[in-house]
Amino acid sequence: MAEIRLDRLRHSYLANPAGEADYALKEINLTWQDGGAFALLGPSGCGKTTLLNIISGLVTPSDGQVLFDGQDVTPLPPDRRNIAQVFQFPVIYDTMTVHDNLAFPLRNRGVAPDRVETRITEIARMLELEDQLGTRAANLTPDAKQKISMGRGLVRDDVNVIMFDEPLTVIDPELKWKLRSKLKELHQQIAVTMIYVTHDQTEALTFADQVVVMQDGVIVQMGTPVELFDRPQHTFVGHFIGSPGMNLLPCEVSDGGATFHGQPVALEGPIIRNGGDTQIGIRPEHVGIGPHGIPATVRKVADVGRHIVVEADAAGTSVNAIIDRDPPERGAQVHLAFDPARTRVYADGWIATEEADP
Ligand code: ATP
Repeated sequence: MAEIRLDRLRHSYLANPAGEADYALKEINLTWQDGGAFALLGPSGCGKTTLLNIISGLVTPSDGQVLFDGQDVTPLPPDRRNIAQVFQFPVIYDTMTVHDNLAFPLRNRGVAPDRVETRITEIARMLELEDQLGTRAANLTPDAKQKISMGRGLVRDDVNVIMFDEPLTVIDPELKWKLRSKLKELHQQIAVTMIYVTHDQTEALTFADQVVVMQDGVIVQMGTPVELFDRPQHTFVGHFIGSPGMNLLPCEVSDGGATFHGQPVALEGPIIRNGGDTQIGIRPEHVGIGPHGIPATVRKVADVGRHIVVEADAAGTSVNAIIDRDPPERGAQVHLAFDPARTRVYADGWIATEEADP
């Protein structure tokens, strides 16, 4: 187990990068504490695999350092970093039994036979694979195979970190939640540093204590799932996390306040930064429909079971509201009321209002 620190890390796949745009990773500085459950979340192409490969040693960064417990491991090859990896597709030996698949990483490292058996028993119990230990891996379902793949990472007790790269890709949707909660439970039991890479917000938010959100090779926010939801530091986080994501309305900024088409909008606190492109950000959960507020026309009403999503048009901008009951009719003229404590201004993508005193 180890604390992982990335210090001024940058990477370009080009031999002679000219500017920012040539870097797949712009500049990454972060610390993952020992024993934590972390997720790396972002859309395809944002640099997740590049970052994972730098941590595991498959890719050497153009600049910066990777430190495990303060020790610079940047020049070390993958086999000297003591990392276990679980990939999208199960990496197991089909001709071996489940037992021997789990034993393999330990026998390979010369672990004493009685210790091997103890670990296999523990891990098989955690993964609920006890009844299948004698089965040949070839005869198992894809999710059981992926469990073995996870087991092969978890069985070692000498690893610095276990990294999961989109591990639920091949799992049936109805089994995904099961494996996801199993992983969370395993982390609580064995407390090894785990990094879970995904483009799926549900997987990231249910697994991790801390989520790193990436966009275009930049970390836009690192925080707990609640922090990412409650106070997105960047419009990308607001929009990427949540269903539907945060509403964004173009606004004018003057005298420390914001207006939308001439109408003043109350904010969580004063605006402390300006920029070329200013937007109001408010989550649909904090938009109400009432007698006062921004005039809008209802375009769509969707009852999604737990709540109702109302999509309205406010002066050409689409705004979603999540309400519990009494939805307006399609085409109705309504007023959208924003909760001031949850209404922020973003300047050039970044949060620009000061947090009100808690
Ligand atoms: P995905 O989820 O699709 O794997 P990702 O978030 O893991 O995406 P990366 O695979 O790290 O993103 O890619 C980041 C950027 O680096 C992309 O623009 C990609 O085209 C580029 N890239 C990745 N690998 C290479 C490579 N071997 N050579 C050149 N460019 C690469």
